[in-house]
Amino acid sequence: MAEEIQSNFIREIIDLDLEQGKNDGRLHTRFPPEPNGYLHIGHAKSICLNFGLANDYDDAKCNLRFDDTNPVKEDEEYVNSIIEDLKWLGFNADRILYASDYFEKMYAFAVQLIRQGNAYVDDQTPNEIRESRGSLKSPGTESPFRNRTIEENLQLFEDMRSDKFQNGEKVLRAKIDMASPNLNFRDPIMYRILHTTHHRTGDAWCIYPMYDWAHGLEDSIEGITHSICTLEFQDHRPLYNWFLEKLEVHHPQQIEFARLNLSYTIMSKRKLKQLVDEDHVSGWDDPRMPTLSGLRRKGYSPKSIRELCDRVGVVRRDGIIDIALLENCVREDLNKRSQRVMAVLNPLKVVITNYPENQIEDLEANNNPENEEDGKRTIPFSGELWIEKSDFMEDAPKKFFRLSEGREVRLKHAYYITCNDVIKNDDGEVVELHCTYDPKTKGGWSDDGRRVKGTLHWVSIPHAVDAEIRQYEHLFNIENPNKSKDGESFTDNINPDSLLTIHGCKLEPSLKNAALGTYYQFLRNGYYCVDADSTTDALIFNRTATLRDTWGKKNK
Ligand code: ATP
Ligand code: MG
Repeated sequence: MAEEIQSNFIREIIDLDLEQGKNDGRLHTRFPPEPNGYLHIGHAKSICLNFGLANDYDDAKCNLRFDDTNPVKEDEEYVNSIIEDLKWLGFNADRILYASDYFEKMYAFAVQLIRQGNAYVDDQTPNEIRESRGSLKSPGTESPFRNRTIEENLQLFEDMRSDKFQNGEKVLRAKIDMASPNLNFRDPIMYRILHTTHHRTGDAWCIYPMYDWAHGLEDSIEGITHSICTLEFQDHRPLYNWFLEKLEVHHPQQIEFARLNLSYTIMSKRKLKQLVDEDHVSGWDDPRMPTLSGLRRKGYSPKSIRELCDRVGVVRRDGIIDIALLENCVREDLNKRSQRVMAVLNPLKVVITNYPENQIEDLEANNNPENEEDGKRTIPFSGELWIEKSDFMEDAPKKFFRLSEGREVRLKHAYYITCNDVIKNDDGEVVELHCTYDPKTKGGWSDDGRRVKGTLHWVSIPHAVDAEIRQYEHLFNIENPNKSKDGESFTDNINPDSLLTIHGCKLEPSLKNAALGTYYQFLRNGYYCVDADSTTDALIFNRTATLRDTWGKKNK
């Protein structure tokens, strides 16, 4: 896993610009989320790119700018979550700016365009404007209000601002070209009337700027040098340039790259919000969500997400990345940092018939064989243990290296045991195993050279703590949930088995005080973490990932 920096086409552009002394040799990027939802892993890609550049180049800066120009969908809750997620991902959230702080400046720039004869107030209804826009094949039609005098436009625009009109009654449009082959040039709307309270400016404004008009100004006002965005804005770039050229202000360069898409999930904030609003998930931070808060709650490390973004690279071709790549990134990272512990998900009782009654031994165990600094702990061993149901089989085939009548296995960190008797209930179900242990195999090895292939995890019954464990599968049944069949909604492809809750799991006692944010490996079961809803009286763990990519194999 290389920490060294990979170049990409954006870095090449920047290197050339710096070499040629463009922007006085400055590099200044920004990450501009609209606070209308929580950040997802696609945003992480943009954050790693923009903040990554600021980290890697001398004196370079990156702004976190809230593009809060649409009060209808925006909220303080989203602002706070975005700041938290950015910090968690490992980036500097010191430079926080808000587009709404520039409303007055934007208004002045709009007045400038009107004075230059480059903008006009249109009285057409939203519907009329849409219909007169034309199509890719046919030109649009000019508005009957297009040739108002500058004085009239100035007055009407001021009236728009001063609350004289209803929503939808008037808009301010740029006066460009209704026949342009680029639809964005057909007199785009700059301002619309919205009598909605803004989460920061309150009721100070009843007109709000449109994205294309506002975004370039935000970049320009902040002195951004390279305005990096995703490919869908490519056709908007000429308009971005047009506004800045007409205003003769600092002109950042817009550069587009491909969005990150992952299989078996979705990245649209609108659709993610729908999943939350319709209770398909428990919230934005449901561990099945592709949001950063969801991945964090599921036990993903920030490093694993940054690693995915690195591996995917920065390209100009859209595609869907296999979600298995993300899962491999988290496995690789957690393999290094997770604390190894023992937890039995589906318990079966084992009684060691030759173990001294009431004896308890404290056995020593390594917390993390990948990192000695994580130290050791002791685990209590007794004559009554839980093992995993699936670790026992009657009439087992030869290759079953776990427990069966007459066979011997190793208990991790403990002893060899041999199964002698199988106890069943009236229904014929196996409820208990009677075994004997070999006291000479303490620590889990023997010096007489006998071979014991299977090693099982276990938990001492009198010391076990109970927990609920939540196992997750992909949220959707199909690789690309954005492409549902005719007449289907994307929600029709939600995987009904994406959450499996197991009650009555038995954990080793050290997990009683497991802390939020600690990464665990439950030996032989997978990577797990404490859920945010867990309490010391009712422990809840989430499965972050299986130990291997079992899902990929199953489907081959
Ligand atoms: P959505 O379409 O989900 O609503 P958005 O692009 O409207 O997302 P913004 O809040 O505007 O969301 O995004 C902030 C920044 O993150 C933008 O620069 C955008 O290009 C970038 N971004 C959003 N989604 C992705 C993605 N999947 N991959 C890479 N960058 C992304
Ligand atoms: Mg957007």
